[in-house]
Amino acid sequence: MKELRYLDDVSSLVLDKDKCIGCGLCAEVCPHSVFELQDQKAQLIDFNACMECGACVTNCPTDAIKVNPGVG
Ligand code: SF4
Ligand code: SF4
Repeated sequence: MKELRYLDDVSSLVLDKDKCIGCGLCAEVCPHSVFELQDQKAQLIDFNACMECGACVTNCPTDAIKVNPGVG
């Protein structure tokens, strides 16, 4: 999604892969396809597309994702 992008390199999104259990919920709920599951782990495939909406944080069962809405 090139049209509706935020500024580059400012998102506060952080993924702790050690905590990820590969459930895929973050990839499912993210409206900007920031995540993809690879080898049973979430990967940030498009970090700069993150709009800090917080949906991934709310749905992650293991607190593997952090974001401060509106900080970036
Ligand atoms: S905060 Fe929102 S836009 Fe950013 S990765 Fe999570 S679900 Fe996607
Ligand atoms: S929601 Fe959390 S545990 Fe599930 S794949 Fe994403 S980061 Fe991993």
